[in-house]
Amino acid sequence: MSPQKKKPGGHLNMAELLAARLATQEDQIQALTREIANLRDVLSKGSCANSIDTASPALETLRTENEKLKYRLVHLRRGLQADQQQQQQGGRKQTAKCDTARRRPVTQTSYTDQPIKRWKTTLILWQDSLYLYEELKRESDALLAMKAAESTPITVELPDGRKVTGKAWVTTPYQLAAEISQGLADNAVISRVNGELWDLDRPLEKDCSLEILRFDNDDAQAVYWHSSAHILGEAMENFYGGCLCYGPPIENGFYYDMGVSSSEFGDLEILCKAVIKEKQPFERLEVSKETLLKMFKYNKFKCRILNEKVTTPTTTVYRCGPLIDLCRGPHVRHTGKIKAMKIYKNSSTYWEGRADMETLQRIYGISFPDSKMLKEWERFQEEAKNRDHRKIGKDQELFFFHDLSPGSCFFMPRGAYIYNTLMDFIRGEYWQRGFQEVASPNIYNSKLWETSGHWQHYNENMFSFPVEEEVFALKPMNCPGHCLMFSHRPRSWRELPLRLADFGVLHRNELSGALTGLTRVRRFQQDDAHIFCTMEQIEKEMKECLDFLRCVYDVFGFSFQLDLSTRPENYLGDISVWNQAEKQLENSLNEFGEPWKLNPGDGAFYGPKIDIKIKDAIGRYHQCATIQLDFQLPIRFNLTFVGKDGDDKTRPVIIHRAILGSVERMIAILTENYAGKWPLWLSPRQVMLVPVNPSLEDYAKMVCKKFTEAGFNADADLDSSCLLNKKIRNAQLAQYNFILVVGEKEKMTNSVNVRTRDNKVHGEMSVEEVLGRLTSLKQSRCRNAEEDF
Ligand SMILES: [Zn+2]
Ligand SMILES: [Zn+2]
Repeated sequence: MSPQKKKPGGHLNMAELLAARLATQEDQIQALTREIANLRDVLSKGSCANSIDTASPALETLRTENEKLKYRLVHLRRGLQADQQQQQQGGRKQTAKCDTARRRPVTQTSYTDQPIKRWKTTLILWQDSLYLYEELKRESDALLAMKAAESTPITVELPDGRKVTGKAWVTTPYQLAAEISQGLADNAVISRVNGELWDLDRPLEKDCSLEILRFDNDDAQAVYWHSSAHILGEAMENFYGGCLCYGPPIENGFYYDMGVSSSEFGDLEILCKAVIKEKQPFERLEVSKETLLKMFKYNKFKCRILNEKVTTPTTTVYRCGPLIDLCRGPHVRHTGKIKAMKIYKNSSTYWEGRADMETLQRIYGISFPDSKMLKEWERFQEEAKNRDHRKIGKDQELFFFHDLSPGSCFFMPRGAYIYNTLMDFIRGEYWQRGFQEVASPNIYNSKLWETSGHWQHYNENMFSFPVEEEVFALKPMNCPGHCLMFSHRPRSWRELPLRLADFGVLHRNELSGALTGLTRVRRFQQDDAHIFCTMEQIEKEMKECLDFLRCVYDVFGFSFQLDLSTRPENYLGDISVWNQAEKQLENSLNEFGEPWKLNPGDGAFYGPKIDIKIKDAIGRYHQCATIQLDFQLPIRFNLTFVGKDGDDKTRPVIIHRAILGSVERMIAILTENYAGKWPLWLSPRQVMLVPVNPSLEDYAKMVCKKFTEAGFNADADLDSSCLLNKKIRNAQLAQYNFILVVGEKEKMTNSVNVRTRDNKVHGEMSVEEVLGRLTSLKQSRCRNAEEDF
């Protein structure tokens, strides 16, 4: 729709326009009534049973059509009335401030000093578009009525295998849902017909399978949020009067982009509510690209999408209320289906993210079929905000970033402790599990990357630079270096599996705009390892990788999900090798005993993989670990070993695997998972000594030293200006796991008084005993040392 249609000042003409539309539609109603009367005549004459059969679907269609029109008429009349009333009020309020007037919701009208001429031209454009739409819609409806008149019975198969009958071009998924139960129909968001998402009110065309989807289905959720984006778009056109661009659903709701520079979004939510209240139906219309270019000539962005993105001769537009939007659909039935909606963020962006294109305003929203769900979502957002690793990292002085090296983190002593403790944890496991740690170069001649294929496919994400006439690059991953290590000398089957582990520093050239805290960085380390093994060894290696993974995640307290991703269409290599490998992966997963899912066709082109997602304390999923088979890299590097049979050209398989993944990112996840309350073994603040008065400072220092020497992060609070209770409180807020208070009595008996950060008092104990208990709790990587003490 024209962005200017409801721009302040346009309401008077809006009313005229509505009146015009009303008149047209009243004509339509009359025409339809006459047709119905004619049909009734035919029926009543009832020459034969056949004619009744063929006429009745047409009647049905006309009746529904009539209902729809009546509904629209009521709306338009109401709208017109409201508009006229408001114009009268608006006339009296002409002195109202312009800026507040601009922010008025739909249901109110305001005047501004906008030159009338400007919007008049766009109004004409919009009027043209509307008339064009109406005309096309009439044609389309007539066509549908014709098809409905010749309707044949169809069979619709439900998910439980049950079959119901309907009429082609007449029966809608909504009607069938309502036949099953009104509750199902009410809660339906969208339907799926022969695997394709389908508007609930769109008539079925032939025999098909039908599924009714509710909000708990991911696809339905996307439809729901996408439909909500239209409501937001309608409100934005009203509020800003700019041109709409893209409005897709996202992981957390939806957004709509508009070509305006204003960043305020004051009353948008009220405008959205008004649209929701109107229960505007979503109307679908298929139109030729050529006509659409005419229809959207007022919006350069939509024309750009039509010209650049639409490759089919026709595409669809959807109308809800005054908004006609270029869209493939489908949508919920009407705007009233959106029960709770919130606008939560806005940001400035560019057309398609390109800095050389127009600046756009992006508004983010979220919506739910129940206001309780929105409340829950808000609580969750608040919780996530409090846990944000960037905030906790700053509060606890763990790390920071600097403009002089964007995306590369500075870990301060407390943060570096966490970093190193995580690597030590994995390193310890390496000793137990037959991995050998290596150290390999950071920079390589680009020839290496040509061999590995990175140069051809990943070059944009690598930092490269000239060195003595050659081009070198910082490594974005360790594998090619490890291949050089493998091929350094002839290898025998006796050496396999060879498990090379490397904490090497990796660099990836992420766009500065994409960098976010520790989750998206340019510099990072991984607990990376490559297992070179024979085809027959895959199953056992996989099982051990899975065991390793469970051991690590148990310590953190993460549950996890496993997916097996198999051969994609564009796979490389021998199909029998793939089959054999996939079978082994499946066996290892079955033997592992945890539930897993199959993702057919989702593997990498060079090998199948197991995807692992961990679930954090507030229910979010993160992918950190990788277990990926690779048949191609050994070929690219011509890796061979001497097999048992003496064949010195036998190819090994490579398993890429990591459990923490990027240590940086894992620290972000752990920070948010623990909300800054680190378990003792990982905690950068483990023990705080608090002397009850200055005369006990030396004793406190002496005890503190004992803990430091035993490998603890121990401090003593020697600030004599602070009272005892305040010191304890401060230590608790700083998340020291244990607070050891020392007074005269403790000094005499060489003991401490133990309490925790959650203020659990364990009481007086000898220093040796506390040291012993804490050491064992730390070594066992106990998750809740404060309770188990
Ligand atoms: Zn849409
Ligand atoms: Zn690798």
